[in-house]
Amino acid sequence: MADPRLIVFDMDGTLIDSGAIIAEHMAATFTEHGLVAPTRAQSNMVIGLTLDIAMQRLADCDTDTALALAETYRRLYRAMLETEGRHEPLYAGAAEALARLRGMETALLGIATGKALHGASRILALHGLTDHFITVQTPDHNPSKPHPGMMLRACAETGIDPSRAVMIGDTTFDIELGVAAGAKTIGVTWGYHERALLEAAGAHIIIEDYADLDAAIEEVLA
Ligand SMILES: [Mg+2]
Repeated sequence: MADPRLIVFDMDGTLIDSGAIIAEHMAATFTEHGLVAPTRAQSNMVIGLTLDIAMQRLADCDTDTALALAETYRRLYRAMLETEGRHEPLYAGAAEALARLRGMETALLGIATGKALHGASRILALHGLTDHFITVQTPDHNPSKPHPGMMLRACAETGIDPSRAVMIGDTTFDIELGVAAGAKTIGVTWGYHERALLEAAGAHIIIEDYADLDAAIEEVLA
């Protein structure tokens, strides 16, 4: 394969619009523990981190409390999936963008997410995307973002040098992860962190629409 490149996507806030469901379950979790529920804006700031780290940041609590909060969150989220039939929709243009990229001989696609592997696998299956991704990196086998481990492992698994890889995400955690791994980064504005934060984190390009993704990839990996 000539000139292969690795294109790694974040999930929450990048591929799927999950912020409302996450905020709702954060609030229910904190209320169940007798804590003040975080606002949607506060929840948005931690989406993308591994769950116990997100809890620790939101509740400003010790590790044991964070783990207990994470366990409650997972139970409530599971119950929602099992009983309510709600799910996280793809953003407009995401499926088309992935189909275009998958059709390119030189593009290998990956996932780097704060979601646990079973959650990430559920989302990919839900949207018929399981076969699109050659590597799926989760907190099950990696440190939480923004540690570069997920990108470095994705590169190692695919044999692609980080300089030929790009991280696409909606938060500073994705941008910092990509930069620290020596990869290129594309920030997206339809997710949960403001453009100014993505710029400050060092995003190489920021896009506002999936229609602009192909050109952005060509530019950063030129
Ligand atoms: Mg995200």
